[in-house]
Amino acid sequence: MNNTQISFILLLLALFTICNLHEASANDYYNSSRSPLIETPFVRLPLGSVKADGWLEQQLTLQKDGLTGHAEELYGDIGDSAWTGGSNDSWERGPYYAKGLIPLAYILNDSALITKAQKWIDSVINSQRADGDFGPRNKNWWPNMIVLYYMRDFYEVTGDTRIIPFMEKYFDFQLNNLPSHSLESESGWAKARGGDNIDTVLWLYNETGDPDLLDLADLLDGQTNDWASYYADGTGDNSYPEHIVNNNQGLKRPVLWYLRSDDAADRDAFMNATGKDGWLMQTCGRIDDMWNGTEPLTDLGSTQGTELCAIVERILSNSIALRVLGTPAIGDQMEKVAYNALPGDLKHDIKGLRYYSLVNAPKNTNENLGFQQNGDGHNAVCPSPHSGYGCCRSNFHFGWPKFVQHMWMGTSDNGLAVAAYGPSQVTATVGNGVQVTIDQVTDYPFRDTITLNITTASSVSFPLKLRIPGWCDNAEIKVNESTMTGVNSDTYYTIDRSWSNGDSVNITFPMKIKSSVWINNSIGLQRGPLVYSLLIEESWTETASYLDGLFKTEEIRPASAWNYGLNIADLDNPDADITVVESAMPTQPFKASDAPVKLVLNAKKVLTWGDFRTHLPGRATEPPLSPLVSNEPNEQVTLIPFGSTEIRTTYFPYVGKDDDSRFKFPISAKAVYGGSISPFGTEIFEPGADKTYTISTLSGCTIKSVIVDGVDVGAVSSYTFNNLSPAPHTIIAKFNVTVSNGSIPRPADILLACDSDDLPDSGVIDSWATAVPAGDTLVKIETPEVEIIDGKKFVDNSYFEYDGFRYKQYSESIPCTGASAIAVVKPIHGDNTPAWTSIVDVFYDRLVLGMQLNTNKVVIRRNGSWVSSNVVIPDNKTTILSLIVQPTGQCKVYADGVEIISDNSTSDMTALVPYSNGEDFTSYINIGRNNPDGWSAFNGKIGDVFLYKTALTTSERQDLEAYIIAKLLGNSSLKYDSDLNGDGRVDLDDFALFARDWLKTTHL
Ligand SMILES: [Zn+2]
Repeated sequence: MNNTQISFILLLLALFTICNLHEASANDYYNSSRSPLIETPFVRLPLGSVKADGWLEQQLTLQKDGLTGHAEELYGDIGDSAWTGGSNDSWERGPYYAKGLIPLAYILNDSALITKAQKWIDSVINSQRADGDFGPRNKNWWPNMIVLYYMRDFYEVTGDTRIIPFMEKYFDFQLNNLPSHSLESESGWAKARGGDNIDTVLWLYNETGDPDLLDLADLLDGQTNDWASYYADGTGDNSYPEHIVNNNQGLKRPVLWYLRSDDAADRDAFMNATGKDGWLMQTCGRIDDMWNGTEPLTDLGSTQGTELCAIVERILSNSIALRVLGTPAIGDQMEKVAYNALPGDLKHDIKGLRYYSLVNAPKNTNENLGFQQNGDGHNAVCPSPHSGYGCCRSNFHFGWPKFVQHMWMGTSDNGLAVAAYGPSQVTATVGNGVQVTIDQVTDYPFRDTITLNITTASSVSFPLKLRIPGWCDNAEIKVNESTMTGVNSDTYYTIDRSWSNGDSVNITFPMKIKSSVWINNSIGLQRGPLVYSLLIEESWTETASYLDGLFKTEEIRPASAWNYGLNIADLDNPDADITVVESAMPTQPFKASDAPVKLVLNAKKVLTWGDFRTHLPGRATEPPLSPLVSNEPNEQVTLIPFGSTEIRTTYFPYVGKDDDSRFKFPISAKAVYGGSISPFGTEIFEPGADKTYTISTLSGCTIKSVIVDGVDVGAVSSYTFNNLSPAPHTIIAKFNVTVSNGSIPRPADILLACDSDDLPDSGVIDSWATAVPAGDTLVKIETPEVEIIDGKKFVDNSYFEYDGFRYKQYSESIPCTGASAIAVVKPIHGDNTPAWTSIVDVFYDRLVLGMQLNTNKVVIRRNGSWVSSNVVIPDNKTTILSLIVQPTGQCKVYADGVEIISDNSTSDMTALVPYSNGEDFTSYINIGRNNPDGWSAFNGKIGDVFLYKTALTTSERQDLEAYIIAKLLGNSSLKYDSDLNGDGRVDLDDFALFARDWLKTTHL
């Protein structure tokens, strides 16, 4: 920064002080917020300021000798990339790789890698066109965002004078073109990931002060996902927000926008998303601070996965959030992800990676995993240079280098701050302009002591800010020999003094073992930033090799038991029962046989656990609900760091005696047709809680009985569980029912109706004549077949065969006043885990009535976003699903007349609009699946389907449901022909009791 710039800033500061506006103070040496952007506690040090040492440097060296150093030979889409003049991929693959290659090359200062890196810089600069756009494709908004990251890195480390003009010219191009060609019009990925673009725009603004860049940032902000609102409560105008990579990448966007908005919602978004009480951690959080998502967010399951791309993006997002917010917990998270999830997803020699990381992964085989993306295996959990979809093998390269780059930060008062501990060295200008070097000498996180050695040519005063982890209660800090006081957990501790050459800071972070409670009351253990997993003997099999055997795809199977339950007396004090064993630091601590720290404790085999799933042999079953009793003998088991394991058990059943207050148990509430119970579905409660359920009836129906834990408590309209015992509970409401013969309401508002009576008599269905409009047909996709059940025709629609139907293509929007989709289904669950499958799908997921395959939970989608019920439809149960969307966008779903979803959407429904992503497949109405994606196929039987361009009223819906029941009952060969309600007649009322009886199954 020159003197003119400094004077200008001082002038601005004076003006803002007078105006009582936010004041931006700046680090004098490094890229800092320039007014009107608000001050950040920390600032980014240029690439090259931080080097890795010890075990951490070894990770970078392994990347150089492994996947990063050989990526251009291993992968055609990188080695022959259109970005460097080749004929292969012109989108994200090459830029992803270069974003990791460049920091790796310069942190290692490796001349061979630097030579490779130069090619990716020069070809991009040479590709810039007169209008400022660059790269192999026109308006390639998303991949260009990645390129801007590494152009900035390269500028910081080399000072190449071509870079700033290159970026200025491109940003000018964006400013001129984004109004007419938005991020979303390039791709939903660009809309989701616009925060990356804002990052480099604001960085350049801080460098140059060009006010046009703020206009560009505003424009980008307006076109990017509303992540702040999504992280708060799942709402907002968003593209693929549930996508696990977007979800971790999007975290940077609100904090970056906070610099401009000074809005508490933007400031708080990061911790809303990542805090343990936030909805994301509550619904799909993991012990390594990641979320489960394959690729959409899934749930808390122990064998759900998270994606390697998401892991590295999360590290980068945390580094940005920590810089802007200065919240120490964000540094804790960054270490946890980098020291557990990242190495846990890489093979120990970094010659292989995994697409998905699973918390419990007792084997890595190329068997069916049932995940939405690469559900049929594709080595998604096997160490390989080719694992799953090709994004991760291209993108993961920046994980370790960018972690190292951001371990240290400058501060707004010309000091230095530790973002993450680990063996490293920072060289930076501090205080009044003196360059210092601080060596961070440590084997952290495998050891609890850290020494900072200061090297400086002359004494210099500056603040040194040390992150005190939230997990550490008794941190000790000594400067030279004097002990510091007032060191508190979960804060930044500042040592502001004059530092001389040879000064040192000695830090001890005592690491207590902490337990945490996960799915089915399973137990996970952490010590310091490390999560621990069972050491399982490994049996490796090579299944493919590449580059003369230097790289391999391998399967790993367990050669010892993995189904243990932990026997710890007091879960609040696990140290009492666990021995910590340290051994010499090896070259690579993230290797099971060399793990330098182990936990040894008592465990018992759990014989009711330890299986792999029947239909998904690649995945273990969930730990059974704890606490539980095991009569097996105590055995000593060894746990090692999660990141050191290739195969692992991390969530263990609990076989100890503790009555831990964190254990929770389910109450499952159900109602048969005729009324409802509130709240409906399964909720989890702490023992000792009180919980009241209320029962109400539909018009004409009365309460018959309420069954609590198997006992009839009578025809009560309300029931309270008092002082819940620590066990699962059930409550079921039954009704006396009256049903009319019904009718089809508002025929003029039917957009599409299909009558199962119009199906062919047998075999594969080529076409299904529509009842409304008469004379049209649905055209099969793949091989849906007719199945006759109790004399009634159904479509047998198979997920596994990608079955479904396509209806006509629409070129224009359909005006509507809300919408209604009613369908008869008999679902059959499978273990694969697409987030949803489509029963009725209008215009590629603009409006969907569907179901999750693995759970039989009903799912609805509006404009890409989705919400599921917590209610499960039993397998093979004839069920009438009714989705009613009001013109305001408010949606409700009824299963056999019982409300199971109520969702207040933010977008109205006054037209059904074909999804305009430029693809032809988006303009169809489909039954049984969506148009392009085979994995969206519903599994089970489909009967009558009605799609309305209006919101049916309650009585209209009930009329239609009654009509459908009457049709089903009208068949002569009904097997449910008993007088269920005992009124002396076999009639509609009995059918209602049967068809809608949630009691016919124990399926929760
Ligand atoms: Zn990926």
